[in-house]
Amino acid sequence: MFRQLRWKFAQFMQGRYGGDALSLALCKLAIGLWLVSLFARWPIFMILYWLCVFFSLFRSFSKNYAARRRELAAYEKLMAKPKLFFRQKRRKWQDRKTHKHFRCKCGTVLRVPKGKGKIKLHCRNCGAEMIKKS
Ligand SMILES: [Zn+2]
Repeated sequence: MFRQLRWKFAQFMQGRYGGDALSLALCKLAIGLWLVSLFARWPIFMILYWLCVFFSLFRSFSKNYAARRRELAAYEKLMAKPKLFFRQKRRKWQDRKTHKHFRCKCGTVLRVPKGKGKIKLHCRNCGAEMIKKS
């Protein structure tokens, strides 16, 4: 009985888009909204929660691959900068005892070992040089 149900579900999902990073993000967002709605009794959180749930389910069951891929690409493009930002922050925190980070005027972050005295930094991106204390 259970196996039959599983097989039926597998058949149902055949040719459908399934989950991706955007669906996962929507699920996480939905959980977050649900938690907020437990404390803040504003209907807007519940509405947003259901929107996330339905959109995520709709995407998973969709057969329109092209549209779903476009959405995923748009989402990844949107998230690229914040992701980079948090990855740099995390790295900076992780090796705060061994390395120092300097930002070049072109925006590139230069990572150098600590405790080497005054050193000349060379930016790989724009070629600028600067003297910093590490
Ligand atoms: Zn630079």
